Amino acid sequence: MTATNPVENLQALIRCPSVTPAEGGALTALQAMLEPMGFVVSRVTASEENTPDIENLYARVGMSGPHLMFAGHTDVVPIGDEAAWSHPPFAAEIADGVLYGRGAVDMKGGIACFVAALARSIEEKGAPNGSVSLLITGDEEGPAINGTIKLLKWAAEKGEHWDACLVGEPTNPDQLGDMIKIGRRGSLSGTITVQGVQGHAAYPHLADNPVRGIIRLAEALMNPPFDHGTDNFQPSNLEVTTIDVGNPATNVIPAKATARFNIRFNDVWTAETLQAEIIQRLDAAAADTTLRPARQPLKYDIVWSERPSHVFLTRNEALISSLSDAVEQVTGRTPQLSTTGGTSDARYIKDYCPVVEFGLVGQTMHMVDERVVVEDLETLTRIYQTFIEQWFANADA
Ligand SMILES: [Zn+2]
Repeated sequence: MTATNPVENLQALIRCPSVTPAEGGALTALQAMLEPMGFVVSRVTASEENTPDIENLYARVGMSGPHLMFAGHTDVVPIGDEAAWSHPPFAAEIADGVLYGRGAVDMKGGIACFVAALARSIEEKGAPNGSVSLLITGDEEGPAINGTIKLLKWAAEKGEHWDACLVGEPTNPDQLGDMIKIGRRGSLSGTITVQGVQGHAAYPHLADNPVRGIIRLAEALMNPPFDHGTDNFQPSNLEVTTIDVGNPATNVIPAKATARFNIRFNDVWTAETLQAEIIQRLDAAAADTTLRPARQPLKYDIVWSERPSHVFLTRNEALISSLSDAVEQVTGRTPQLSTTGGTSDARYIKDYCPVVEFGLVGQTMHMVDERVVVEDLETLTRIYQTFIEQWFANADA
């Protein structure tokens, strides 16, 4: 008996309460599906100071190339208010053709379908002409320090080499077949601090209000636009996410003001060129004393977030067309090739091999009553199976 039924696979995974950082039995359940299919399974625990230890899983079937990787995570976000769920979050109950449970779409569902797809393919056509591996982390929804980055490094140091990767995150906004992700925008955050001189609101000439400065700097970040988008990417966008002064008094000019921002950027920029552009804007705004007449140019500090995400675009035609054709054959719909949305672990995998992303419909991810239409599980399994077979056929040709 192999794991050819995606619904049963998903129910087994949802019934493991693997809220980050807990393994919750989910990797053990996955291992039990993979070993009868001939996979060699490694469980890899990663640790780092000040973060919880995380269990991960790497499994491979086949010895030779070409080598296809499927990547994903079995950890899930917390359930929120349990009483608000119409079905218990870890029971995997089905009602009216819909399967309920935390992780149903993000992304135990994707894993369940990929395993079923491969199991069917092996049953019908024998082992693929090459290797398939699963790289599954328990730390995607958490700090992501002890997950995909370390697991990739661990496997690469053992001599693993991959030709392509499919990430099974939910990528479809409304319907299965809407969207394949072929890249992601970068993400960069920073904190700006302006020091002022505290004083009486009625005697502003004796003080220097940092709020005047922080407003001018924030404005300079928001306008003009950084770019107008590219062929494959929407325009880069910066959001000032908070401005903090923390001043409880109305008659006191505060001593300090802080603003944080996050920018999602496209392939016009690298994290480095973008930082330089931002500094240039801030310096120009600091020298502009419109909001602070008869004052010295503003002094500000900026601290960048430690790990910016780099922008990437996958250009591997064989990989993209194998997946896109599979979606079209099974659903009759032509998927959009997109780079929208947030970051994912694909940003780490792209350093090792070309990577694309396709999974379930993402509408209920992270919500109360996370759920998946049972029929979608069958459809995604057929898409994955077609993709696997086409990718190996293309790689062979
Ligand atoms: Zn996810």
